[in-house]
Amino acid sequence: MVDRIADKVRAGERVSADEALALYRHAPTALLGRLADGIRARKHPDGYVTYIIDRNVNYTNVCVAKCNFCAFYRPVGSSEGYVLGFDELFRKIDETIAVGGVQLLLQGGHNPDLPLSWYEDLFRAVKERYPTFKLHALSPPEVIHLSRLTQLPVPAIIDRLIAAGLDSIPGGGAEILVDRVRKELHCYGKATADEWLDVMRHAHSKGLRTTATMMYGTVETDEERLEHLLRLRALQDETGGFTAFITWSYQPSNTELAGSEATGIDYLRTLAIARIVLDNFDNLQASWVTQGGKVGQLSLAFGANDMGSVMIEENVVRAAGAAYCMDEVEIVRNVEDAGFIPKRRNMHYEILGDPICRERSMPRMLELATARADGDTHVPDELVNYEARSRAGKQLRIIRN
Ligand code: SF4
Repeated sequence: MVDRIADKVRAGERVSADEALALYRHAPTALLGRLADGIRARKHPDGYVTYIIDRNVNYTNVCVAKCNFCAFYRPVGSSEGYVLGFDELFRKIDETIAVGGVQLLLQGGHNPDLPLSWYEDLFRAVKERYPTFKLHALSPPEVIHLSRLTQLPVPAIIDRLIAAGLDSIPGGGAEILVDRVRKELHCYGKATADEWLDVMRHAHSKGLRTTATMMYGTVETDEERLEHLLRLRALQDETGGFTAFITWSYQPSNTELAGSEATGIDYLRTLAIARIVLDNFDNLQASWVTQGGKVGQLSLAFGANDMGSVMIEENVVRAAGAAYCMDEVEIVRNVEDAGFIPKRRNMHYEILGDPICRERSMPRMLELATARADGDTHVPDELVNYEARSRAGKQLRIIRN
């Protein structure tokens, strides 16, 4: 059975749900890797492995969703809650541009005290100061949160955000797109599987390109992981709007759900089956941020053709205990050592050029920045201009006034 399906994959044919499950469960890991690598080589015969220089900024950690796998959020009113000021965000963009960065990946908690106008003003201000800098911002659950906050439909929210400067939507918050799993992870309320897919459908219909993700290793079965992939494949058949797929394992430290982390082999098998199932996706990223540099490099033999981001900052995965860091020099070293040619890209996976560190000398970046320095609890001045919904938020505005 496995041999017959492997022949199908080698011939470039699409696998069914049952065939994918049989491969995932029974194919030896080396065979899965060879099949996935064959697809990568067919799709990327130039031997390029790409990466983007950007900054992963979390504008607030205050969140009402309370997903039980999340170590990052703080409840409304928490003394550890923060909202970044526009000035802080501009400073982060300046630092990003200085090291050759081209975009912000901007995501945050579902903060009831940040109205839609806060996002619009921020996006407009960014575009005014940095006209060519890109905003890869607000995952589908954040868009849904804004829709609920404003009582406006999702397409209207996307239109408003695009008008303000949104360039693309990151695929976060997908976890596993199966409602049984979402209910167990307490993330069904923030977005059902259909709601997540619908935001992406609307975004694609408006010409935005987006990514898709999967966080595995919590309570889902093998069948449910594959159902997730098949639902993404179906939407990609419909819209063609996904640029890339990224999968990572659940990081259990400091979470309510707790448990243990999936192994490296589980990661590589999951990446490989994703490469096989998602035959209509051009790009698969290696998640070295959660798996570490060595497994990240191995991903290039299991279907990945992209090293994701030369991250300057990371807060979410770090809160759950993982703190891997690779600057451009290190990414380039890993890519070349694996036999590929490193190339910088933008969000649309268009090649921007060779590594910047080959063009000019760059300071080494051996540690990722955080949203805020420890102990910095200041409240941005401009927040008084935006109406708060929570009692704690309203009190804070009164004190500031
Ligand atoms: S995963 Fe996102 S939505 Fe869920 S609690 Fe964490 S910050 Fe909030």
